[in-house]
Amino acid sequence: MTLLALVGIFGLNFVSIQREKVNFHDELQNQANLFLETMALTIRDPLYRLELDELNDLAQAVRDNEKISQLIIFDRGGHILVNSAQPELFFSQVPDPLGKTLISLPVGEVVSTWYNDELIAGQAIFVGNQIIGGIAVGFSTGPLDEKIKVMTNESRLVALIIIGLGSLLSFILARQITSPLGELTEVANHMGRGRSTRVQLKSADEIGKLGQVFNKMADLIEEREAALRDLAQGLENTVAERTAELEKMAISDPLTLVYNRRHFFTLAEKELERARQQETALAVILLDADHFKDINDTYGHQAGDLTLIELAKSCQEAIRKQDIFARYGGEEFILLMPDAPVGSAQATAERLRQRVAEKIIAVDGKKITITISLGVACAGSAIAQNITSLVALADQALYQSKQNGRNRVTVSTS
Ligand code: GH3
Ligand code: MG
Ligand code: MG
Repeated sequence: MTLLALVGIFGLNFVSIQREKVNFHDELQNQANLFLETMALTIRDPLYRLELDELNDLAQAVRDNEKISQLIIFDRGGHILVNSAQPELFFSQVPDPLGKTLISLPVGEVVSTWYNDELIAGQAIFVGNQIIGGIAVGFSTGPLDEKIKVMTNESRLVALIIIGLGSLLSFILARQITSPLGELTEVANHMGRGRSTRVQLKSADEIGKLGQVFNKMADLIEEREAALRDLAQGLENTVAERTAELEKMAISDPLTLVYNRRHFFTLAEKELERARQQETALAVILLDADHFKDINDTYGHQAGDLTLIELAKSCQEAIRKQDIFARYGGEEFILLMPDAPVGSAQATAERLRQRVAEKIIAVDGKKITITISLGVACAGSAIAQNITSLVALADQALYQSKQNGRNRVTVSTS
């Protein structure tokens, strides 16, 4: 903007100077014409009579006028008689070119030409129809140059003022708009990188309002972000809970909530491996509810379910922490006892049998009692067996218990 204003100022100055020049030239021409008209009348008599002293006096008078640079008077042959600019020159022998031009002019015609910033105007002087000489006058453009200098200086001054004002305006603009916008951009960048910042634009103008709106927007964004984070965290927790639930479901029996048969074998394989490495004993107890069909028949299937739940709970409560209890299928359960020699496995089996036999299960105001038959199989140290064959041995022992009248423990002797 400042640059544009400067170009405008200097352009305007140039145009003004050109116009001033034209005006000045016109004016100078008019002055020259008027001067020549007057002078022609004044010098006609002395020229006609060739009174050189008088002509010299005239030239002397002209010399004091600073506007007029020179006055030359020619005789009828075009020779210079008097030149105000060159006082020593006196009557040239050869006709002067300008003089020759002038004396060939018709009455009243003025010739003028610009020569080195000087207007030279001249005409012939007549007495009647007879030419008696010529007169030429030079007008200097000194005043014009002076005026142009003043105009140029004026426009320089205006240019300086414009530059000053422009700088001041830029400074104010920078303070009021550019730097606040810079701050906004910076804060927005910070926020984009996840930092919580606010703009400090406190002014009462539009920029200040923009700052307030920006901060409100930032508040809103952060609130939403926090809400989103909470939501995501909640979702994560739900997913984790659900996953844990699913994992638990995959390894549990849905009715009694003890381990299911598949998970039992997974854990049992690991325990067997450990028993092999550490050369410890490992026992398996298989147990089956006696005449469970009768329970269902007598009390209903739902009561049978509740009885199975109570049975599982009763056994689960009576075993060691490291023992693995699972539903083997139907009304049959299995217990794996790591590091348990046959004696202690047998004792546990006996304890379980008693516990179940003594338990009274209350369903719908009715008291249900059940018994279980158990088979114990134990692998001593340096086990060469697998779980399936150990379970098969326990199953055989269990069969024996059933055969021998139920509600009893049989230890596999194989
Ligand atoms: P035993 O002493 O010879 O084992 O006699 P039992 O009646 O227990 O044996 P049987 O194999 O003849 O019958 C088992 C019964 O257990 C039949 C079946 O309906 C019942 N049972 C198996 N699983 C469930 C269950 O999840 N819920 C209920 N209520 N009953 C079940
Ligand atoms: Mg059975
Ligand atoms: Mg049974």
